[in-house]
Amino acid sequence: AAAKDAIVTAANVTKRFGELRALNDVSLTIAPGAVQCIIGPSGSGKSTLLRCINQLEKIDQGAIWVDGELIGYRIKGDELHELSDAEIARQRLATGMVFQRFNLFNHMTVLENIIEGPVTVLKRPRQEAVAEAEKLLARVGLSEKRNSYPIELSGGQQQRIAIARALAMKPKLMLFDEPTSALDPELVGEVLAVMRDLAASGMTMIVVTHELGFAREVASDVIFMDKGEIVERGHPQQVLVAPQQARTRDFIAAVL
Ligand code: ADP
Ligand code: MG
Repeated sequence: AAAKDAIVTAANVTKRFGELRALNDVSLTIAPGAVQCIIGPSGSGKSTLLRCINQLEKIDQGAIWVDGELIGYRIKGDELHELSDAEIARQRLATGMVFQRFNLFNHMTVLENIIEGPVTVLKRPRQEAVAEAEKLLARVGLSEKRNSYPIELSGGQQQRIAIARALAMKPKLMLFDEPTSALDPELVGEVLAVMRDLAASGMTMIVVTHELGFAREVASDVIFMDKGEIVERGHPQQVLVAPQQARTRDFIAAVL
């Protein structure tokens, strides 16, 4: 069952792609308000874990609960019934996802990008959605860009809009998959600053990142993954500064 008070519980999750176990018997819980950073080499299963939590991938074994709900299934008596696509789409609204590549709608203005979900999916009145979007634009420091198109913005600005757009859906949990990896180095800081504010506001976040400075400062907990498994997990000062496992040590030495 879902761990008491956890916003995410994963229990013995395995995800296969053919013969490959992208996730191998992964278990974890994440407390409300936690900033869970995940580090690890390329191919270690970090994106797959986020995609399974966000139901972009179906798991092969185990179970995941988000905000107390078993994802992908409805429990009826002692039977499990698979959710329909529409039910999964509704369940997925609990999580906002920000990807490495800012996937904004390029034919829509910044404001239209942000209100699209609230108006079409949540059926919010347009005026209300616009007012909320304006607050979010102020929060990410881009009020003056409300009528711009994504291609007129820098990568850092686009990523801040992607964060605002995800927040407009009022998620319980935000997932970030290497949100600064595609950015020019001078634009990384502005995105991390928005994420830092979000963390300070109490949002629960899972952040896959190679920004170890950010992880050290902001993470409440760090997971090191390798080959589809959680190798080490703990306080950032432990995992990033004094790792117990040789594989964690080698990885951190290579990134720094
Ligand atoms: P990371 O995000 O840590 O770099 P991923 O979760 O993207 O790692 O990938 C974990 C492993 O699963 C890799 O070996 C990758 O090649 C494989 N993989 C991921 N997605 C797919 C897919 N859709 N089809 C086949 N293999 C995949
Ligand atoms: Mg990845």
